[in-house]
Amino acid sequence: MTEHTRSKTYSLSMNIDGFTRNNRYPRGYRNMFSEDGKTLTPAEARTYLALEKAKGRVVIPCSSECGNPCQHEDNGCSGFDYAGGGCPGRYTEGK
Ligand SMILES: [Zn+2]
Repeated sequence: MTEHTRSKTYSLSMNIDGFTRNNRYPRGYRNMFSEDGKTLTPAEARTYLALEKAKGRVVIPCSSECGNPCQHEDNGCSGFDYAGGGCPGRYTEGK
């Protein structure tokens, strides 16, 4: 008898306003964001957050794991919800 375990994994998300409120520029912005494997400088990070906010986004994914569409679509992730919901989660087989 085997029990089928199915759990959900959520990618962390970050609230843009919360981040800017809790982190001082530039120190708190260092090594926090990366794009295409390259770490953003504090100035680049600030620009990035401003652009995301300008798109009307409230939360952004912390990792490149999730997005919209999500690379884990096959495992049940319906795509990151930038309006505040964050990562809807994806199914991972339990071990
Ligand atoms: Zn996802």
